[in-house]
Amino acid sequence: MKHTCYKCKKYAGGPRVIVFEYKGMAAHVFKDGMTCEECEKKQWKDHYENDIRRFVGDLVSVSDGKTIVDWTAYHKVFSERRSEGLKDRVNYFLMDVGIFSVYSERNWEIVSAGPIGLNPRTFGATYLYFVRKEDAIEYARLERGRTLYNWEIRHIDKVIPKDKIVKSRN
Ligand SMILES: [Zn+2]
Repeated sequence: MKHTCYKCKKYAGGPRVIVFEYKGMAAHVFKDGMTCEECEKKQWKDHYENDIRRFVGDLVSVSDGKTIVDWTAYHKVFSERRSEGLKDRVNYFLMDVGIFSVYSERNWEIVSAGPIGLNPRTFGATYLYFVRKEDAIEYARLERGRTLYNWEIRHIDKVIPKDKIVKSRN
């Protein structure tokens, strides 16, 4: 079935992840089946310019091909205003530009005694892992530096999903 884009009325194309360059960053953005690639890109850019940038400023910048996250600005915004909705959108954006991942393997996690995962979540459910060590360190220092409880940062080397273990028995 061929759906037309709800915005421009051209052929929308199937749902998939589209990759494009934005200010030196590689954005991986999920496109649904009701929006064409061009409109999705435009929508994503508008969202960054008008929503995230307006509240959080230039949260990300690129220097020597490397994305730099202003964790100080992130911390400041969310310690001053209780806006879970905005925080979700910002975390989602950071996932799109490769700072967070939903996958644990080869990524980083802040863990307190218990152990309890202290990484950010998005939309109250999706647990996010840090792709880079430096982001995990900076985030942990700012967000958890003054806590009385102890925590540490761990690198997750290898993950074996339940499915794989259960299946290998048969
Ligand atoms: Zn369109």
